[in-house]
Amino acid sequence: MAAQKRAPTQGCPYMFKKILIANRGEIALRVIRTCREMGIRTVAVYSEIDRDSLPVRFADEAYLLGPAPARESYLNGDKIVAIAKKCGAQAIHPGYGFLSENSAFATLCRKNKIVFIGPTPETLQASGDKLAARELAKKVKVAAVPGIYSPLKDLTEARREAKKIGYPIILKARAGGGGKGMRRVDKESEMESAFRLATSEATQSFGDGSLYLEKYILGPHHVELQILGDRHGNIICLGERECSVQRRHQKIIEESPSPFITEATRRKMIKAAIQLAKAAKYAGAGTVEFLVDSKQNFYFLEINARLQVEHPVTEMVTGLDLVRAQIEIAAGKRLKTIIPPPLMGGDKGEGDHALECRIYAEDPNHDFLPSPGKITQVRSPEGPGVRVDSAIFQGCEISVYYDPMIAKLITWGKSREEAVRRMQRALREYQIVGVKTNIPFHEAVLAHPDFIKGKYDTGLVERNLSQLKRKINQGLEEIAKIAVEIHRKSSLLHGERSEGARSRWKTISLQEGLR
Ligand code: ADP
Repeated sequence: MAAQKRAPTQGCPYMFKKILIANRGEIALRVIRTCREMGIRTVAVYSEIDRDSLPVRFADEAYLLGPAPARESYLNGDKIVAIAKKCGAQAIHPGYGFLSENSAFATLCRKNKIVFIGPTPETLQASGDKLAARELAKKVKVAAVPGIYSPLKDLTEARREAKKIGYPIILKARAGGGGKGMRRVDKESEMESAFRLATSEATQSFGDGSLYLEKYILGPHHVELQILGDRHGNIICLGERECSVQRRHQKIIEESPSPFITEATRRKMIKAAIQLAKAAKYAGAGTVEFLVDSKQNFYFLEINARLQVEHPVTEMVTGLDLVRAQIEIAAGKRLKTIIPPPLMGGDKGEGDHALECRIYAEDPNHDFLPSPGKITQVRSPEGPGVRVDSAIFQGCEISVYYDPMIAKLITWGKSREEAVRRMQRALREYQIVGVKTNIPFHEAVLAHPDFIKGKYDTGLVERNLSQLKRKINQGLEEIAKIAVEIHRKSSLLHGERSEGARSRWKTISLQEGLR
């Protein structure tokens, strides 16, 4: 947040004049905003149902991709590259999700002489294969979660390996992501069905049913390191994000710095992340994910070769614009010319703290089922230290075709306590009408004593689910009581609309010279 820490604007030997954004929603808008600040023209691509979306309105040019299903629109790499060529975009920013980690797409861009704003196709291929990433960790002597390094041939092998490692274990898809194809197995009798389900989910989601298994670490923390690599072999780490508030292994709240790891652990993790990124010849923005156990032992989980959903948390504590850094790196700039010296040396803001809540259109009272529909009213929180990354507006439709995340609410503070209080205040201000959201759920988590103390692991939500839900409903009951009370009072007033009441008002008004 501190202004003096922002990257200096320096002349660039080469800079893109036009960038196509191969994505939608808040991240497309986020990228467009940075491009505008850099004086770069933007090209949006959109599906039929996103015709009226904000990225389409904000971009300098916009082209239709096709019908709503992602396969026919945002995953149609050939069409996206054809549009980029036709309109003269020199680079493509893929955002996150969709084609962002697709090495075939990055290769297609390269073949067509369009810069893919992300790592090379080779790096994408190596990091997209979780087993190849584990191999890489082994090579540079960074401990990965105990487990196997080649895909399981069949159920018999799964049983044998699980027995060797010891239950509980977790089955994972080799090509995994988004928690898909992942199953915790506590005992041998559960293995057969878990193996079947994980295989079919992995096949369906990634077209590759290969699985491997790892020891299930009990009560771990998910701590990830933000790295930046330039195209000249330089790598820096911009500190960590704690992402242990999860539901069904998916992050819902992230913060930086981690309230859990010690300074000694942080230093060791940074070293390990840089080692891994160097071994992967990493260029661009990326994240190295670790699990940390209660004794501060950390284990490599995976590399995410893209801008993460939660990148604003790092932006708020470092004062950097990571999208800008991505673009400058892709244009060939060296890190030392785009990152201020204190950050190059690993120095972050003294005491600065940031939090992010992912706002989903979902119903916490009905098993968090997506809640699509029209947003009839929206009022975003504002004020000091608050940032909202979103592309929603009054009248927009939240469709079933895409991820239900509709906004990211980020707060910054000079201390964790300040950032948490701001988040509580900002959540209270946030009004979204027309679809159900998980805002009340976030409020319940933010009020939980373990979260307030910063003493939580990835089990926080599951362990306290019924208590958190009760808290939401208590809130709703209070609102209902207030509504009843307002109704009662207004009926009373209505009922009292006798001549006497009216004339009394008239008298007061006259006395005060209002008429
Ligand atoms: P994905 O890429 O599908 O999101 P990850 O491997 O990144 O999957 O894991 C997502 C989350 O699942 C982690 O943050 C953690 O909460 C949980 N998890 C993954 N592996 C393990 C493990 N070996 N032990 C305990 N929890 C795990």
